Amino acid sequence: MTATSPRLKITYATLSADNPELQAAFDRAVEWARGELGKTYPMLIGSELRAGGETFEHRSPIDTELVVSRFPVGTRKDVHDAIAAARHAFPAWRDLGWRPRLEIIRRAADLISERQFEYAALMTFEVGKNRLESLGDVEETADLLRYYADQMQAHDGFVQPMGSLSPAEHTRSVLKPHGVWAVISPFNFPMALAGGPASGALIAGNTVVMKPSSDAPLMGWKFVEALREAGIPDGVVNFVTGPGESVGAELEESAGIDGMVFTGSHEVGMRLYRGFTREYPRPIITEMGGKNPAIVTASADLDEAAEGVARSAFGFDGQKCSANSRVYVERSVAAEFVERLAERARQIKVGDPTQGENWMGPVINARALRKFTDAVEEARRDGGTIAAGGQVLDSGDEARGYFPTPTVVTGLPPDHRLFRDELFVPFVVVAEVDSLDEALGLANDTPYGLTAGIFSQDQSEIERFLTGIQAGVLYVNRRSGATTGAWPGIQSFGGWKGSGSSGKSGLGPYYVQQFLREQSQTVMGEEPPPA
Ligand code: NAD
Repeated sequence: MTATSPRLKITYATLSADNPELQAAFDRAVEWARGELGKTYPMLIGSELRAGGETFEHRSPIDTELVVSRFPVGTRKDVHDAIAAARHAFPAWRDLGWRPRLEIIRRAADLISERQFEYAALMTFEVGKNRLESLGDVEETADLLRYYADQMQAHDGFVQPMGSLSPAEHTRSVLKPHGVWAVISPFNFPMALAGGPASGALIAGNTVVMKPSSDAPLMGWKFVEALREAGIPDGVVNFVTGPGESVGAELEESAGIDGMVFTGSHEVGMRLYRGFTREYPRPIITEMGGKNPAIVTASADLDEAAEGVARSAFGFDGQKCSANSRVYVERSVAAEFVERLAERARQIKVGDPTQGENWMGPVINARALRKFTDAVEEARRDGGTIAAGGQVLDSGDEARGYFPTPTVVTGLPPDHRLFRDELFVPFVVVAEVDSLDEALGLANDTPYGLTAGIFSQDQSEIERFLTGIQAGVLYVNRRSGATTGAWPGIQSFGGWKGSGSSGKSGLGPYYVQQFLREQSQTVMGEEPPPA
């Protein structure tokens, strides 16, 4: 694929809907992407582009008459072969050394940036993200590659001289790759959460077998294409597609996999966490779900709070692990806060996200839409009030997709299921509280712990929040709410409790180390050459 648009430097901070240059470039890319829809793609096993027998098709959540891509239904044998190819390629990739590895990864990052509009337009068709969210996902992928490469370089390949007991002795600590990593990614950041984890493993000197979500295989494939064009050797990156139950299970069960990085739901992640280490210890990084709270105190700027909650709860239809989905507001300001939040929800333009004016597109599939309608029905049945939304767009072009409206619910008891379970749809529940302490107690009463926010103009309240809240990513008075990680190097991203296994993070300075293990080397006589 050739780049058709000039490169723009994009971050979440500079993305702006009223940038005419950006919108015109996206218009062209959407037209190009339409011509790409419906193609059939292979898996990548070593140097082989394997078509396989049966294929599955992914249809756009914007319009289910559009087939976005077709990929093979991989078998356990395909996965077995991919693991063998990755094992075969590992020693040479490890021994290549980190400097040549970084050159390849940085070249891939530049290719991704050059194609930001084309990839973003395809992503909008594939998962229904709006223009700016798709561009953000693509450019974040490239920046993750660059950031992790910079981390490897800043640490000089992770070789650390140690003390010695005599001048004839040289001891050093070296971080070394494990071997073959499985990379299992979710639908909602289809490029950044395939490419980010894979590049962490690759930079460290591991080889990988990637398995994308069946709701978003194309963006994972585009990432693999960029790596291949950048010169990654055969077998270092392998790509298998198909159901989690067979393709994913083979990755979980195979003794040929040395480590696993999974991003997805709590349910699947915990199953893998237990299964992967059943026979013996192996590293597994699980980044999982969230039910993320925000607290609004009586001292808050209510306009700021309403904007922060709306952006965080309804951005990409609430389908971000960082999304806010429950709010605890002090009783004296609750009515006014809810009115402002509901008004903002009503103003959100929902529709085809390939069009620049639509801020919210569809949810990913029929199951997600059913989750939304079931939650609305449950809220009504249990005495809740639908302060905004609660509907599905079911006429005109939108009837061919899965378009819920941004929904605000009040009046449910704070121990209700809808305050507890991750729904991953644009649905936020609001409860009234009597104090910050009560809000903190309710916010922390969750098996998750990804993001949490507070809106308050009182410094002592903010300090109590920062000290007492149990979550990995905190934000205070942030109009843009809890964007995932913000950007590499700007904010780390990692979960506490049931949201993440590692306690460490993506997007931050401690990521690459998770794909490495320590070795102590003591050499008598001549000092060994640098790694
Ligand atoms: P999911 O758990 O349904 O699927 C994730 C991946 O696991 C997919 O590739 C899927 O095919 C695979 N899978 C499913 N069953 C499997 C099995 N038995 N063995 C191996 N692999 C299997 O998640 P999703 O719906 O794609 O993504 C949404 C979820 O991801 C949400 O819960 C969200 O909070 C979470 N998420 C977390 C983070 C984070 O950084 N913590 C980031 C993004 C998304």
